[in-house]
Amino acid sequence: MFKIYNMSKTDRELSLNFYKYLCNVIGTEEVVKTRRKLFCALDSVLRHPTFTVISSGSKAEGVDLNGSDYDLMFVLESFQVYENMIKVSLFTNKTPIIMDISDTKPGFTKLKLFDRSNKYLRHIIQFAEILEKETYISSKLFREDHMPDCMIIHGPCQSNPDNTIDFARCVRCEEWITPAHPWIYRSRSSWPDHRLVMSVTAMMEQNTVPDEGYVFERKRKKGISKDPNAETFWADMPYYVEIAKAKEQNSKWGPKKIIAELKLGLSERVVKTVLSQYFYDQNTDCLFRKSIDLNVHHRRCVSKNDLVNMIKENHKKDHRKADTIYEALRTTVFPVVRETIKILFKTEVKCQQCASAIDLPKTTTTRRPNSSYVS
Ligand SMILES: [Zn+2]
Repeated sequence: MFKIYNMSKTDRELSLNFYKYLCNVIGTEEVVKTRRKLFCALDSVLRHPTFTVISSGSKAEGVDLNGSDYDLMFVLESFQVYENMIKVSLFTNKTPIIMDISDTKPGFTKLKLFDRSNKYLRHIIQFAEILEKETYISSKLFREDHMPDCMIIHGPCQSNPDNTIDFARCVRCEEWITPAHPWIYRSRSSWPDHRLVMSVTAMMEQNTVPDEGYVFERKRKKGISKDPNAETFWADMPYYVEIAKAKEQNSKWGPKKIIAELKLGLSERVVKTVLSQYFYDQNTDCLFRKSIDLNVHHRRCVSKNDLVNMIKENHKKDHRKADTIYEALRTTVFPVVRETIKILFKTEVKCQQCASAIDLPKTTTTRRPNSSYVS
């Protein structure tokens, strides 16, 4: 509202009248906020370990226009969607689903099962469709699944006959997928707010709040790290070591034999994937991430502890900052995610000399963003 004082008198009057008109139609700022909070409360009451309900659309945004329906996302928490196989966490309880955007329109994807072992197949068999040996989720069967008799299909949703409720069953992808990258840098005048864009991207990247001088502040845009989420990797790393070591010590063992010997209860496909991505080097006693590019070296896998120590050592050299350390490490060790390095740098590097410099107030204020529903 403060900008209104820079306007001409006529513009100011017109603008205020329009604001009052909108308050009449939609409700005042307070009313809109209260409506949002109500839906937020409803969602948290309905939360369940196997599904999450997210009220969406205009109603949940607090804009209660006549004739608008109630949109509801119903997220099935037993599935996890990944952009590609490289990022799959092999030891989660969730059923991994892989995106396949070949031959699809922009903004659309086919979803296929990562691993067709019975452990996973039984979770999606009721809406699965098999095409060329791959198991896809049929969007038709998926939206019709568990549909009560009183409901009808309305677009991607299950709706009641008078179309006042749209109920969309969903699966979650927690990555910032490649087709969504342009959204970050898209030119925009005012909406969405710069801070909102920042917090959305940071949450997607590492489930953290962005720190100062995030990618958007820089002239040179920095790429998003290709490595998987470091914490996920570290959780799975002992298994990778065990599998790769078994293969190194018994070169003739295939995935089946390794599964039988290690008694890990894993499927053949999981073990195959691990073996295709990692190898164990007996000389250095280290796990390595295989390079897929002939010009790039295999990278040594490091534990969280190792990485923290490397960051500390790197900083000692010439009081390097997180970005420089990231650049120094990313070609030799795995996993190196820019945001992870930043966080570990902030929390683990205790350097007297730098402490004052790090805490200097920044030109851009970044605050912990509130939930977009409550703010
Ligand atoms: Zn220092």
